[in-house]
Amino acid sequence: MHFSFDRLRDNRYYSPPMMDPLPQYIDPIRLAIKFKRLSGQMSLGEMERLTSLLASTQGQVDIDLELGIDRSKIRNIRGRIRANVTLVCQRCLQTMDYMIDSKVMLGIIIEREQADQLPAKYEPLLIESDKVSLKDIIEDEMILAIPSTPHHDLSNDKEVCESTIKYFHNDSKGSVDGNKRENPFAVLADLKRKN
Ligand SMILES: [Zn+2]
Repeated sequence: MHFSFDRLRDNRYYSPPMMDPLPQYIDPIRLAIKFKRLSGQMSLGEMERLTSLLASTQGQVDIDLELGIDRSKIRNIRGRIRANVTLVCQRCLQTMDYMIDSKVMLGIIIEREQADQLPAKYEPLLIESDKVSLKDIIEDEMILAIPSTPHHDLSNDKEVCESTIKYFHNDSKGSVDGNKRENPFAVLADLKRKN
């Protein structure tokens, strides 16, 4: 059986296929031998490690994965996950929408040492049993796709971010200028000096 990954990469052809509900657990090796495709949605609310990083637990992740074996006999999971999530901007501390659209390229390994032999294009996925939580795999990929310090896209949302910062700083010195803005550590140093 053959399939094209180019279709997954190309936005124009993407439409979430209607398929059976996603299984809770998968046997990745068996599914790779069968070249199984897994498509569907999972709700973000079920992913506790992920939602601890989000401002809202609402929403779904669209999943479109194909398991298979490549020319070098490496069993793999490839495809794409997409979700709209709400994060907290680390610049103005207001919520912001963020779209995750992440390519998945996992090389299945059964021993830790095999990770070194995987081609660089694969992230290793260490399988220790034939019953692996699909949710855990997706959740790990989602966590990796979230920026460590999210902030508004200043080319589009500059006004949102700036006006909020202005609002927050009005009580003190009122300036949003990066150089003039009161440095919290300087304030702290001041307090220490007074004591
Ligand atoms: Zn912001």
